[in-house]
Amino acid sequence: MSEVLSQSPLSPVAPVKPAPRVGFVSLGCPKALTDSELILTRLSAEGYQTSKTFEGADLVIVNTCGFIDDAVRESLDTIGEALAENGKVIVTGCLGAKTGDGGGNLVRQMHPSVLAVTGPHATQEVMDAVHLNLPKPHDPFVDLVPNAFGIAGIKLTPRHYAYLKISEGCNHRCTFCIIPSMRGDLVSRPVGDVLNEAQALFEGGVKELLVISQDTSAYGVDVKYRTGFWDGRPVKTRMLELVQAFGEIAAPFGAWVRLHYVYPYPSVDEILPLMATGKVLPYLDVPLQHSHPDVLKRMKRPANGEKNLERILRWREICPEIVIRSTFIAGFPGETESEFEHLLDFMREAKIDRAGCFAYSPVQGAAANKIPGMLPLQVREERRTRFMAVAEAVSSQKLHQRIGATMQVLVDHAPALGRKGGTGRSYADAPEIDGVVKLLPPEKISKTMKVGEFTRARIVGVQGHDLIGVPV
Ligand code: SF4
Repeated sequence: MSEVLSQSPLSPVAPVKPAPRVGFVSLGCPKALTDSELILTRLSAEGYQTSKTFEGADLVIVNTCGFIDDAVRESLDTIGEALAENGKVIVTGCLGAKTGDGGGNLVRQMHPSVLAVTGPHATQEVMDAVHLNLPKPHDPFVDLVPNAFGIAGIKLTPRHYAYLKISEGCNHRCTFCIIPSMRGDLVSRPVGDVLNEAQALFEGGVKELLVISQDTSAYGVDVKYRTGFWDGRPVKTRMLELVQAFGEIAAPFGAWVRLHYVYPYPSVDEILPLMATGKVLPYLDVPLQHSHPDVLKRMKRPANGEKNLERILRWREICPEIVIRSTFIAGFPGETESEFEHLLDFMREAKIDRAGCFAYSPVQGAAANKIPGMLPLQVREERRTRFMAVAEAVSSQKLHQRIGATMQVLVDHAPALGRKGGTGRSYADAPEIDGVVKLLPPEKISKTMKVGEFTRARIVGVQGHDLIGVPV
């Protein structure tokens, strides 16, 4: 008989009732083993204990292998043993995804009494089956935790999207910013760790990964783009390779990857084909802050020598559906009226889809405080208002162009299974900062929507920064 894994509980609180016990058998290759580790981590985090024997368990999970005939036989025999000795069995892993003679599921054909069958990389489905058949213990500690994502740790976002930080700190010294003095210079996380975390998040049910840092395009500069390892293969610590790998990891889960805080360096051009071919979302959050080269120099912005307008127009040629979000500062010290008008013209030509703007305000300790030409508050505020009027006109025009289109929408809110409508977001909307798609009740009575799932919606209207869609 295969050895049943044992693991001690993580909960620091002794449960009043004995904790439910799960027997676990892990067969197959190292990839199957990491699946087992993820499931065991989740079980442990939720207060389940593991049993060394089938008889001593309340339920048994068998993680199977379906690679060669011997492995199939061993897996089927183990399931048979677990059914004979325990009776309550959940099957996961590669064999779970195999079809038998006649087209049905092989495991179900051979062992019809198993409780549930999933394929590999199905931590959430396995956990759902466990919850259904062996309710999780009440533990005041772990019940406070909304989600556990294995090595990805606790996330405070809704379970269907998560932020993934790829580096800490920043090598730039923008004159209005004091972040580097608080967080230090750029330190990139090892590429293998970042990619493992992405994998764990998707396996935990995340449908949208939001990649964040202070300067995403500088990823790996601090380690000279050294080669790391992930999934047994070399991967450079560099934005292009990282984004390519994110796209690969997200694909089997049908999940989105969204990039934030990307500066307009020439190297970013290489990411655009990945957006044009759907590997990652055609969405870039590029904090530009201004358009006039002299203001950018006074700000000491990264990529301040670049021709940003030409770069953005080129991006739109490569990937016409790209949505660009940005933030700007109006009334920076020394900003002349013509420099400000340069910014308004830039907005009209670059057609930034989503823009935010701050009236400049001094930050204690920032170098910009010493730049001559501080403008009166009234001028700074008035420029911000003028900027937002242009930005909103551009944005509204772009939103109106979507009327009649059918878009994929990730559902964020859907009471009563969405029968009365709900809200969601398209690829053009990052959570918290952009608009939403307000979903009307579906036309078809049988159509339902669930939080964290995708639906398609036909866009029928615009309301402020939001779209209105009918689920189809
Ligand atoms: S790029 Fe500039 S604004 Fe951004 S964190 Fe670094 S210094 Fe601050």
